[in-house]
Amino acid sequence: MSILPIYIYGTDILRKKAKPVQQITEDVIRQAVDMHQTMHNAGGIGLAATQVGKLNRIVTLDLSEIEEMKDMKPLTMINPEVVSQEGQFTMEEGCLSIPDVRDEVNRPERIVVRYRDTDFQEQTIEGGEVLARVILHEIDHLNGTLFLDHISAAQRKLHRDKLKLMEKGEIDVSYPVITAAKIAVP
Ligand SMILES: [Zn+2]
Repeated sequence: MSILPIYIYGTDILRKKAKPVQQITEDVIRQAVDMHQTMHNAGGIGLAATQVGKLNRIVTLDLSEIEEMKDMKPLTMINPEVVSQEGQFTMEEGCLSIPDVRDEVNRPERIVVRYRDTDFQEQTIEGGEVLARVILHEIDHLNGTLFLDHISAAQRKLHRDKLKLMEKGEIDVSYPVITAAKIAVP
């Protein structure tokens, strides 16, 4: 098991679309285990492969810290796909790739998602509110989309200074990261 560095806002990979996983291999299992460990280490409730520099469609979740979800086990979702959605719901979001920036995002309130588990068996999960939110946020990552893309330009402007510092690699977080500056200057 290892903790992987998390790619930060400004790195190109966060804008790339991840490819579906074709089969379960040792590498896929190892990556999922590492993603869970990386997510826990960073205090996150969801993580997408893109955020650790892997362009395959794997998402890890652990919402057990949230009171109403405390009985839910950590989950690995491979090739997750929204099959239906309903309602609208606004909630504050943050992202391990955009530390110290939070904003209100409007998303569907309930979703049904199909995915493959770590045995490559097809599973379906229905989620509302927080669960729907986290899954949609992570599926966005697999498509190169960030929560900042869902807010207005005026709202985004309020975060401009912090985002500029992030691009320059000037951030202070407790977990290993890769910033655009660190990649540009090895
Ligand atoms: Zn995120």
